[in-house]
Amino acid sequence: MTAATPAPPMIRMEGVDKFFGDLHVLKDINIEVPAGQVVVVLGPSGSGKSTLCRAINRLEPINQGVIEVDGKPLPAEGKALAGLRADVGMVFQQFNLFAHKTIADNVALAPVKVRKMNKGEARQHAMGLLERVGITDQAEKYPAQLSGGQQQRAAIARALAMKPKVMLFDEPTSALDPEMVQEVLDVMTNLAKEGMTMLVVTHEMGFARRAANRVVFMSDGEIVEDSTPDVFFTAPKSDRAKDFLGKIL
Ligand code: ADP
Ligand code: MG
Repeated sequence: MTAATPAPPMIRMEGVDKFFGDLHVLKDINIEVPAGQVVVVLGPSGSGKSTLCRAINRLEPINQGVIEVDGKPLPAEGKALAGLRADVGMVFQQFNLFAHKTIADNVALAPVKVRKMNKGEARQHAMGLLERVGITDQAEKYPAQLSGGQQQRAAIARALAMKPKVMLFDEPTSALDPEMVQEVLDVMTNLAKEGMTMLVVTHEMGFARRAANRVVFMSDGEIVEDSTPDVFFTAPKSDRAKDFLGKIL
């Protein structure tokens, strides 16, 4: 191996600003997520965490700055944008499964449409993913027949079906009954161990401590801290982070 230039970060945001009208919701955001790392984003409600995720997937346009995924700037429109969306898997608080399709079809659909996988292959790949998230028994059921935890695991399988380079999670366990939180976190922990690059917005501090390489703390549209979980949880630097931790721990 030669001393090659280091691989670009899987996600890079530089000088990103975003406004909703007069409201400045992302303020000069700079983040790098190296390949294979897990970054957990913490912060009070309204601090801009969801907007940050949506910007990376280009569900929200930004006003200024650069966002790159795997070294490539976000494309504006058209085919390249579909390609980006395929590279960036996203899991939301609400599972957003197609209600009138079976779980297996939910997972197999996009690879056929976007990745042009043939149906048999997509189906086989889908079954493998359902096994990975532990719900093969639910393959022929409809979303409403599953528990919340099972639906969220199906949503993760569906995002993985596109073979994304990066997975974004926006409060994936916030809508779940407490007894179902851990099964979803376990799936996420396994994904992290397998080397998936992940950006995770969550209030699950146990997950942040155990699975995160870094914790990014946001407040009022700014990144206030960016450190290891150990440093963040034991010695937060800012008053805003101390205040936040005081309320949730
Ligand atoms: P978080 O996910 O941290 O709770 P959000 O990113 O959802 O924060 O929101 C950040 C700020 O942007 C909040 O003040 C919110 O009210 C505002 N906001 C979010 N989406 C919109 C929108 N579509 N139009 C106007 N304001 C919005
Ligand atoms: Mg949010």
